[in-house]
Amino acid sequence: MVVPVTNGHRGKRSGITFCKGQRAPARIVSMESGAKAESMDTDDIIVQEDAVHYGHMRAALDLALEAHSVGEVPVGCVFVHEPSGEIIGRGRNRTNESLNGTRHAEFEAIDMILSQEGYRIQAENPEAHFWKDVALYVTIEPCVMCASALRQLGIGSVYFGAGNDRFGGNGSVFNIHTE
Ligand SMILES: [Zn+2]
Repeated sequence: MVVPVTNGHRGKRSGITFCKGQRAPARIVSMESGAKAESMDTDDIIVQEDAVHYGHMRAALDLALEAHSVGEVPVGCVFVHEPSGEIIGRGRNRTNESLNGTRHAEFEAIDMILSQEGYRIQAENPEAHFWKDVALYVTIEPCVMCASALRQLGIGSVYFGAGNDRFGGNGSVFNIHTE
């Protein structure tokens, strides 16, 4: 059972910076089987929501570690289809390996999503608004290039683990989503 929760500040509790996209965020909380939304108090929902955020950020961190282990800048990310809670794309930096400075984790993951026919068809249909239901969890704030790409896609939410004082495009240097 899922219940939508709208509170743009809850990400802060888990130490994950929440960056609002171009719409109010729709949060999805997976409930224990058999639990009823009406019986959950707010603290229970926040704890469960934090666990979801931590789980996705943990997956992103694992990818960053993988990048580090092969000599890449240690950045990793996952894209989550919020209605289902499923990770639909994973990526880590591959700039050294590919000799291509644009192969950031976000682009790797976007390519993974678009390589799956079902998602590609939805993404190509402007009326499906596919990316609005997708959240990005990335270990460091997206750079200006990636933030611009995310805005053009119309991604619903971006969560990042640390700000990026040199290249950040979600507030640290520029705020691509609001400017
Ligand atoms: Zn980037």
